[in-house]
Amino acid sequence: MNLKERLKKDIVICAEGYLFELERRGYLKAGAFVPEVVLDYPEAVKELHIEFLRAGSDVVVAFTYYAHRDKLRVINRESDLEPMNRQALKIARETAITCNALVAGNICNTWVYDHKDREKTSKLVRSMYEEQVRWAKEEGADFIIAETLFFLGEALIALEVIKSFDMEAVIMLAPFHEKMRDGYSWVEACKILEDKGADVTGLNCAMGPETMTPMLRDIRKSVKSYVAALPVPYCTTHNTPTFLQFKNSDGSKAFPVHLEHFLMNRSETADFAITARDLGINFIGLCCGGAPHYIRSMAEALGRTVPAGKYSPDLTQHAMLGSGDVVKSHNINALSDWNPEI
Ligand SMILES: [Zn+2]
Repeated sequence: MNLKERLKKDIVICAEGYLFELERRGYLKAGAFVPEVVLDYPEAVKELHIEFLRAGSDVVVAFTYYAHRDKLRVINRESDLEPMNRQALKIARETAITCNALVAGNICNTWVYDHKDREKTSKLVRSMYEEQVRWAKEEGADFIIAETLFFLGEALIALEVIKSFDMEAVIMLAPFHEKMRDGYSWVEACKILEDKGADVTGLNCAMGPETMTPMLRDIRKSVKSYVAALPVPYCTTHNTPTFLQFKNSDGSKAFPVHLEHFLMNRSETADFAITARDLGINFIGLCCGGAPHYIRSMAEALGRTVPAGKYSPDLTQHAMLGSGDVVKSHNINALSDWNPEI
């Protein structure tokens, strides 16, 4: 089944968050955030794909996020552009095939597009997308995700390029600001993308569930086709609507490497999966900060039985918190002995 056939039958779960997770694991440098790991430690990428699949993801997203010409230039590895893309797609396909999962090719915001210099920058962006989408198609991707876009102009180029290769397109916008950088509201932009032929539109990155959910509700009301929601698993609020606004205790910016303090717990991400399902969202997952335990909790909340579920928590077997026949009599008061406040 292709993506739309799967969406017609059920929600599609899509795990993301590769950049942050592989940075935490010591395989990727924060800053440029280029997925050099694909060439330098391919087994680390494969392992994370496997972990996400075991946790319940229906999609393996080829790790080509920021593997575009402009970023590769920043780290002086432009000659590795094509090998990096092809290798990422090969790893994704090899892994997906073991679980009948879909492979998504992946393109994203370029940092090149400028709506005030549209003619010149559009050409550059188009050529960057064309090479990446061509490699994705040649390496057997099932569909393309274009994501973290905050200019409608750039999102439309992504959509046109994907459609020129006759592929299904998931276009996700990143609500880092109140409106898109070229002035459109997020709802308006999703509607335009739908009208222009996007198979799935929606939001990813920037916001946690609390601040993204009201926007998703509005998008769901105005878009007829499939809607995507991949928030970040951080406790964003009215006062800190995106994870860019979080501050460390000394007032400095927590983004992007001091965000742990603001993470949600796994039950909260599971609650989001339910909320999204009840809103009628079709393509559900997490972006930066996402990790396998979150995806498992979301998949299980949606009623899925997943391979990693074999090791889902069972506190009845815990030596202090467990059921009567497990907790030995001398351990019954172990927690309160340690700290009378508990
Ligand atoms: Zn993200």
